[in-house]
Amino acid sequence: MKSVSVAIVGFGKIAQDQHVSALNDNAAFTLDAVASRNASLEGVAHFRDIQTLLDERPDIQAISLCAPPQVRYRQARAAIAAGKHVMLEKPPGATLSEVEDLRAQAERAGVTLFATWHSRCAAGVAQAREWLSARRVTSVNVQWKEDVRRWHPGQEWIWEAGGLGVFDPGINALSIITAILPEPFFLTQGELEVPVNRQGPIAATLAFRDVHDADIRAEFDWRQTGSQTWDIHIETDAGPLSLTQGGSRLTIGDEVVLEGGDAEYPGLYARFAELIANGESDVDVTPLRHVADAFLLGQRVSVEAFNE
Ligand code: NAP
Repeated sequence: MKSVSVAIVGFGKIAQDQHVSALNDNAAFTLDAVASRNASLEGVAHFRDIQTLLDERPDIQAISLCAPPQVRYRQARAAIAAGKHVMLEKPPGATLSEVEDLRAQAERAGVTLFATWHSRCAAGVAQAREWLSARRVTSVNVQWKEDVRRWHPGQEWIWEAGGLGVFDPGINALSIITAILPEPFFLTQGELEVPVNRQGPIAATLAFRDVHDADIRAEFDWRQTGSQTWDIHIETDAGPLSLTQGGSRLTIGDEVVLEGGDAEYPGLYARFAELIANGESDVDVTPLRHVADAFLLGQRVSVEAFNE
């Protein structure tokens, strides 16, 4: 089968760190162009912005959107209107309404829209979901704590409205638990710590309940220096399960049952290829809805200014 001609739009950290190698390793795609104002990739056609790319390269079949979420909607809308299949980095938009509209537009245009959640492709996630599907969950403890200075240097957009603050990494944990827990769960309480000089939270604590009253708690913090924590611990009627190291290490009871490599972006592009081949879309906004609920219900607390 002929490969799908794809362009990356927004050639920043994640595009360079993950998308290029995942595309190069997947025979279903050929990376034919990059659109970015200040960055390019040697040997690949370069355009300043998405509209120039769409105007000048009608042969491109798919667009992978890797710019910050605040510009996702306009870029996705233009790509869909031009008849392209579209892959959205997480979070899929700055608001839920935008994403709903994109879903409808893609359906009308008959193109694939894929709202990605890279952490759902972490090595241990599928097996965790399968094991939990036959269990009763009694509690969940999410600890997602990292150093913002180390992972997001100079990214002003991440602190601005639509950038989500600490929920930018935190939504990865939410994308995992919404995929693996057997029952839906709902926010009951939240606290968002917002630096006095920023719009987005630097830390947050959320409490949820599921339909069986399981106690689900999540702590997100961007102030953790030294070792970094991306762990989920779950208690069930059949003992504990832990997904640690961002979901790549799975422990059930005392036994490490899986310790996988970096499966996330190869997994996303494999899924994108499958969706395009089947003429389908995959747009699940559940993780973003929980973040929106946190902004709706959570109490905002001012904390000291954050400067890089
Ligand atoms: P980034 O390094 O800031 O890169 C995004 C790129 O988008 C920028 O380099 C910039 O390229 C372009 N851009 C920025 N503002 C723009 C605007 N207003 N209009 C058009 N283009 C703009 O950010 P990133 O870390 O790659 O994150 C991008 C997305 O990927 C986010 O949604 C993030 O949550 C997600 N993500 C990031 C990571 C990570 O580890 N960093 C991991 C997974 C997912 P030009 O200046 O060249 O146009």
